[in-house]
Amino acid sequence: MYCPQCKVEMNEKIGDYQYRQCGLDNVMLINVPMYECPTCKLEAPRIPNISDVHRRIAEQLIGKESVLDAKEIRFLRKELGLKEVELADYLGVDKVTVSRWETGASKMDASYDRLFRLFFVHKKTGTAPAALSLFKKVIAKETSVRPSEIVIRGESLQRAFA
Ligand SMILES: [Zn+2]
Repeated sequence: MYCPQCKVEMNEKIGDYQYRQCGLDNVMLINVPMYECPTCKLEAPRIPNISDVHRRIAEQLIGKESVLDAKEIRFLRKELGLKEVELADYLGVDKVTVSRWETGASKMDASYDRLFRLFFVHKKTGTAPAALSLFKKVIAKETSVRPSEIVIRGESLQRAFA
């Protein structure tokens, strides 16, 4: 690999790298293979499976105790491959709300935070409650159609609870 600035061949080494390209300020890759330019000292990690790195970052975010911050929300949305408007549809908010969460203009409240995490886990693993996959449909209908009636017949109750 050649240095994009100096056009000289870069050396290989093992080192630590702050992985800012993921959009988070606090991700360090420790003891990873890297390239280093002998002239300008530019460093670039050479991670064979960057999606595995992203998966591990996501796992830590999903398990964190505090509410997700702006950059974390953006990271997880991108991991899902969703646009802001698509995530907004899934969570039942408008696109502006997602934008405000991701710029830090407003804080995601704890219940949306939890919903987002459940949704993320469901999309990635399919193990969160299956009903979450229905949200998009339900929300899309909500604006134009009254909720359909829930009909419970008396004769069915005895059977159900007998
Ligand atoms: Zn260089």
